[in-house]
Amino acid sequence: MSSFDVVIIGSGPGGYVSAIRCAQLGFKTAIIEKYSTLGGTCLNVGCIPSKALLASSHHYAEIKHFEDHGIELSGEVKVNLEKMIARKQAVVDQTSGGVKFLMDKNKITVLEGMGSFVDATHVAVAKADGTSETIEAKNVIIATGSKPSSLPFIKIDKERIITSTEALKLPEVPKHLIIIGGGVIGIELGQVYLRLGAQVSVVEYLDRIIPGMDSSLSKELTKVLKKQGMKFYVSHKVKSVERAGEAVTVQAENAKGETITLEGDYALVAVGRRPYTDGLNADKAGVKISERGQIEVNDHLQTSASNIYAIGDVVRGAMLAHKAEEEGTMVAEILAGQKPHIDYNLIPGVVYTWPEVAAVGQTEEQLKAAGTKYKVGSFPFKALGRARASGDLDGFVKILADEKTDEVLGVHMIGARTADLIAEAVVAMEYKASAEDISRMSHAHPTFAEAVKEAALAATDNRALHV
Ligand SMILES: Cc1cc2nc3c(=O)[nH]c(=O)nc-3n(C[C@H](O)[C@H](O)[C@H](O)COP(=O)(O)OP(=O)(O)OC[C@H]3O[C@@H](n4cnc5c(N)ncnc54)[C@H](O)[C@@H]3O)c2cc1C
Repeated sequence: MSSFDVVIIGSGPGGYVSAIRCAQLGFKTAIIEKYSTLGGTCLNVGCIPSKALLASSHHYAEIKHFEDHGIELSGEVKVNLEKMIARKQAVVDQTSGGVKFLMDKNKITVLEGMGSFVDATHVAVAKADGTSETIEAKNVIIATGSKPSSLPFIKIDKERIITSTEALKLPEVPKHLIIIGGGVIGIELGQVYLRLGAQVSVVEYLDRIIPGMDSSLSKELTKVLKKQGMKFYVSHKVKSVERAGEAVTVQAENAKGETITLEGDYALVAVGRRPYTDGLNADKAGVKISERGQIEVNDHLQTSASNIYAIGDVVRGAMLAHKAEEEGTMVAEILAGQKPHIDYNLIPGVVYTWPEVAAVGQTEEQLKAAGTKYKVGSFPFKALGRARASGDLDGFVKILADEKTDEVLGVHMIGARTADLIAEAVVAMEYKASAEDISRMSHAHPTFAEAVKEAALAATDNRALHV
């Protein structure tokens, strides 16, 4: 029987990053993946393919603005969806292949098959050919991720009533795509098909889209997407989703009990994701699973079995690839006797629409609820030379700082390239910067990053320069 210091179940960003860090720290490491491709949800049916389609559809949408830039197109510009999806798949294949390369480079044993606990120190790997191999593990890291969740009355047929997985490989541009759930995944995929020519309607139970983020971001994103043609039905509870041939009907009810009926050809169910532990036999290892289906862990990500840890989407916290990666690294370092730490308040959240939305730290709603006294510095992109030069005028940067100490407590931004700009805010907050600290640092001109400096100036005694 093969024996390992660390066995990792699941090869998503949590699992594969953890495997690399374990190998770097000298552990004999194995990773088990039930699919034939490595990289998990993120690389195969999540972050990477969705960003590939967002990039392709963004290029197409940009053509509309070419004339403003003095570029004249002659002839018809057409979308070849099949080719666009094939390109996306090529990006996925290359990225997943890169993970395989990294496993080999770090001498990590990759076992393809379904991993399940025999007991706390033995994991069986059931392979596609029907055979099974049991391996011994001093420590196990569960990184089994998540799957799309649904509502009990919705029958997902994967053809017309679909999840994000199918939305990444549709055979045609929908005429009318009805999206159930205005969270990040629904909104990103909605914008892809909106740009490609679909009518897109979003039905959201809460009173705003991207509800976990600062409400000013929801408001601005709604405004911009409405301008682009997306329709929103917020504060609407979906009651039924029915398919008849190629037609899909969604009925939803508002707070007054009034019903709306939407007729479309595809319905995307994007109501969140559930932790995935099917077939893991966690109980055989003494690993507790909570009522919400998450593997229960302590602050060190240790489960109820002392040699078994769990990371990523399968445990509490934001379902984000970079959060899973940080946790994967942290567990490897704990096993090596180090004392790593994750500040969950400083895990940024990003929506890759255009304009992009990005945030870190506390929202205004959270600060108000906690009774924290804070000040706000805000700066609009339209006042920025760089934004005017490129024609990306939507959005703003908002910095929330402690009223007394000036420490930055939260940074919320919507606009061009904010997915990358947010890194500056993470660094600043990691080092407990004040708004004034940021405002006194030189930011290259002309850049979008100047909006961060200006918002910091605005938070520091209302000293913004260009408004
Ligand atoms: C459409 C979409 C877009 C997204 N975009 C972003 C984004 O832009 N940025 C971001 O940060 N996050 C994004 N996410 C979320 C991100 O994909 C997840 O947070 C991330 O993949 C979680 O990583 P993980 O390692 O915990 O699990 P996963 O990536 O889900 O990987 C788990 C792996 O474990 C395997 N597995 C499960 N059970 C077993 C078993 N018993 N034996 C063997 N293998 C098993 C699974 O097959 C899977 O490969 C997106 C998600 C979706 C669906």
